[in-house]
Amino acid sequence: MTESINSADCVVVGGGLLGLLTARRLAQEGMAVTLLERGALCRESSWAGGGILSPLVPWQYTDAISRLVERSQHDYPLLMAELLEQSGIDPEWTQSGMLMLDTVPDTRVTAWAERFHCRLETLDADRVQLAEPALTAASGPAVLLPGVAQIRNPRLCQALAVALQMQGVTIREQCTVTRLLIRDQVVNGVETEAGPVHANCVVIAGGAWSAQLLQGMGRELPVKPVRGQMILFQAPPGMLRHIVQGAGHYLIPRRDGLVLAGSTLEHVGFSNETTSQAREELMQAAFSIAPGLADYPVIRHWAGLRPGSPEGIPFIGEHSEISGLYLNTGHFRNGVVMAPASAELLVDGLQRRDSFTDPAPYAFWPGRGLSGAGVDTAPESGI
Ligand SMILES: Cc1cc2nc3c(=O)[nH]c(=O)nc-3n(C[C@H](O)[C@H](O)[C@H](O)COP(=O)(O)OP(=O)(O)OC[C@H]3O[C@@H](n4cnc5c(N)ncnc54)[C@H](O)[C@@H]3O)c2cc1C
Repeated sequence: MTESINSADCVVVGGGLLGLLTARRLAQEGMAVTLLERGALCRESSWAGGGILSPLVPWQYTDAISRLVERSQHDYPLLMAELLEQSGIDPEWTQSGMLMLDTVPDTRVTAWAERFHCRLETLDADRVQLAEPALTAASGPAVLLPGVAQIRNPRLCQALAVALQMQGVTIREQCTVTRLLIRDQVVNGVETEAGPVHANCVVIAGGAWSAQLLQGMGRELPVKPVRGQMILFQAPPGMLRHIVQGAGHYLIPRRDGLVLAGSTLEHVGFSNETTSQAREELMQAAFSIAPGLADYPVIRHWAGLRPGSPEGIPFIGEHSEISGLYLNTGHFRNGVVMAPASAELLVDGLQRRDSFTDPAPYAFWPGRGLSGAGVDTAPESGI
């Protein structure tokens, strides 16, 4: 194990959920890990996300995504229990179920549900009203995925930060990585604004900014920012019971009554400002799903930059041309749910052992994403 403050066995660049969970897995392997974050931990996409532990329309995604989702969904309850014990912080993993309004499953959907062990029920309009009395009376049949859970991702990040410190991971915030140190196609660390940190293993988990670190190194990493805005209603506990999708949007009720309404998909570069137009769009969509929300104030409005990638399939594994350089990025709309499985897959590859799935679909191979499917071709609409 390497000991110096300016060296480590492995450097992780980026303190979002992907970076934190990767650092946790690496430390569990007995490695000396240094995590470098440009700002404060988890203030970007991993803070802004809604915390639904499922893609919005899960059967519309490729198997490469469904496999990571299924693995993470299975692992989340144990991870939550461990983090609660280690940190005393409860990220509120809650199996609220996800109700998809005006949706009727066809045989393709039921076949997908069987393959990925996803429970799925069809509700007629009366049962929808019974399940969620706050919904507009005009709701038609719906699909309920009762196994879908949610977490409060900012709390998950806080719990992870405490757990990492207990594991001995060195965390350096306000520390921007300016370039990678590479000699003869082998990585040997990173340069930061505060000097170099040497390591034979570097993991890039820089979210929407990941491609910047690979600039000028031949192939462009097709990861681009896609802005998402959300608003927060201060509603009473129990007003909504499920995550609800309708009108191309979604509502997420927290245990304390707060209801998140999301989201937008905007290609505006690295701007993460909020707009009054999006606020209005989100409010109108929320009222069309649950009219009673109009009685409660919007207490917060924010934006985050998702790391968009072709088909939403993340890049996980070693760079094909630079030894010791690894990627764990490009999780687009599903980074919270895919994070635990992505960290496991990455570290299994780094340790040269078999993992729960074939790593090939996640490799950064020449041309991936540069022809055919472009960034942000993952399903967009909630319905
Ligand atoms: C509105 C919205 C709703 C969402 N809802 C959900 C949901 O319900 N479920 C779900 O699964 N996913 C959701 N997502 C997606 C999810 O939030 C992201 O996929 C995930 O958080 C990406 O995590 P990350 O760690 O890759 O990136 P980030 O959280 O953005 O972290 C990357 C970090 O790297 C740091 N960094 C970048 N460059 C450098 C550098 N040079 N040096 C040092 N540090 C650097 C950044 O400062 C940042 O902290 C949502 C996203 C948004 C915006």
